[in-house]
Amino acid sequence: MTARLLDGNALAAQIRAEIQPRAAAFTARHGRPPGLGIVLVGDNPASAIYVRNKLKAASEVGMRADLERLPVSASIEDVLAVVARLNRSAVHDGVLVQDPLPEAMGPGAARRVFDAIDPAKDVDGFHPVNVGKLVQKRPTLVPGTPLGVIEMLERSSIPIAGARAVVIGRSDIVGKPMAMLLLHRDATVTVCHSKTRELPAVAATADILVAAIGRPGFVTPDFVKPGATVVDVGITSVTDAALVARWFPAGHPRREVFERRGAITVGDVHPDVANVAGALSPVPGGVGPLTVAMLLSNVLRTAEAVLGP
Ligand code: NAD
Repeated sequence: MTARLLDGNALAAQIRAEIQPRAAAFTARHGRPPGLGIVLVGDNPASAIYVRNKLKAASEVGMRADLERLPVSASIEDVLAVVARLNRSAVHDGVLVQDPLPEAMGPGAARRVFDAIDPAKDVDGFHPVNVGKLVQKRPTLVPGTPLGVIEMLERSSIPIAGARAVVIGRSDIVGKPMAMLLLHRDATVTVCHSKTRELPAVAATADILVAAIGRPGFVTPDFVKPGATVVDVGITSVTDAALVARWFPAGHPRREVFERRGAITVGDVHPDVANVAGALSPVPGGVGPLTVAMLLSNVLRTAEAVLGP
């Protein structure tokens, strides 16, 4: 392996260490900690893990974090009622509803629920008011994952201005805000998606390649210009023993984790890319921890915006 590994765990610890004294100062001044309300509907196991990580990280930096759980049978009105209560709450500065909502709620449910969150408390940055402000490069709340990628690049001294950046994936949560943040930092940005022609060749023009697709190992070495920075955002839990055996030789630590647990988390970037890239944000231990750290940063920001630091 030749690529420099961009250590998301270490960077996230650094960011949390910066947030903690500010959260303590806020608590001392205002008599209560910055507060986050999380709404979790149903029993999606991945969502349960994400929510647990957020609750733990918030309490570690001295914030209050409350979980509102609703059963999978909850109606959209039930969810909207909880959101309305958190919007009014004097102790919750940030509100988020864990995505995805149960499929039974229908295709428009997530949008309705995100639209109902007070834009001033929208720490996930999904509300159209905040999306609009992002597009116009006005100060706003930005989704934690693309914000985390920017923090990672900047704190790793990877130049963005003037760089060619390719983002694979155009979701509202990752791809689009990612492209906007890179553009606002003067990168020349190309957004690719499932209909992009000659994708490997387009990707191989990138100085900074961000993969946010959700397909294990999709980005192979032919997608990567030698020396490029590759950021893997994808998260997929893999249970396919043959794939794990192909990717990781016997004795490899990842293979041992798989043999113990029967599943491992992998990204969109094939392990062989480490031989071509100049720098690589891995999965796990890359963007994931930064996403949570940037969520906390957003909570602090919403708290300070209302009451002062
Ligand atoms: P999504 O399903 O909403 O979007 C996937 C995107 O990939 C789409 O825009 C689609 O056009 C593109 N795509 C699909 N197949 C493609 C193909 N064959 N060629 C080119 N593009 C293709 O997913 P999302 O919410 O943006 O998440 C993407 C991945 O990032 C998922 O694995 C998700 O779990 C992960 N994720 C990680 C974090 C984190 O904290 N690290 C946060 C959010 C999402």
